[in-house]
Amino acid sequence: MNKLVLPELPYGYNALEPVISSKIMELHHDKHHLAYVNGANAAAEKLEKYRNGELEIDVKGVMRDFSFNYNGAKLHELFWQNMRPYSENNMPSSGLVEKLKMSFGSFEAFKKEFSDAAKQVEGSGWAVLWKTEEGLEVGQLEKHNLLGINGATPLLVLDVWEHAYYLDYMNDRGKYVESWWKVVNWEDVESRL
Ligand code: MN
Repeated sequence: MNKLVLPELPYGYNALEPVISSKIMELHHDKHHLAYVNGANAAAEKLEKYRNGELEIDVKGVMRDFSFNYNGAKLHELFWQNMRPYSENNMPSSGLVEKLKMSFGSFEAFKKEFSDAAKQVEGSGWAVLWKTEEGLEVGQLEKHNLLGINGATPLLVLDVWEHAYYLDYMNDRGKYVESWWKVVNWEDVESRL
């Protein structure tokens, strides 16, 4: 497969302050995201060599490694696009509110379910708003790749690995999750529907 590349952030490191500090963004994008890109490429290269008969590998281990890193790279790409600079009254369009209403009863009910999903991820993972053929669903991802929904498209993702918030919020993941709604890029979410 083609090599993954680290995409540029669609805004400056400090664009999401005061919700997410420039220090976190710099480390998160330049170090963590890059590590997933490199990890996916390294695993893909091993698989390529294995196919050519140049390398014996633990197929199960390398495929697991590829899944973890590839999904990590793609989730971060989406996460950056899902955010924009802080706005106090940050709301989706009435069209998107209607769609969320159809699946969750109300926008507030959706927000609560997504926030609860994010707060309750065990260890490292993500909250995800998925689009399925049957409607919208909220779910969790453990690490980057476990508990995914086959055939579903992620519309909105929230990284709740400790590297995403610890420098700013210490162990208060709940405060991070609640503050994060002010930087959600609803136009981007809607464009994926
Ligand atoms: Mn992350």
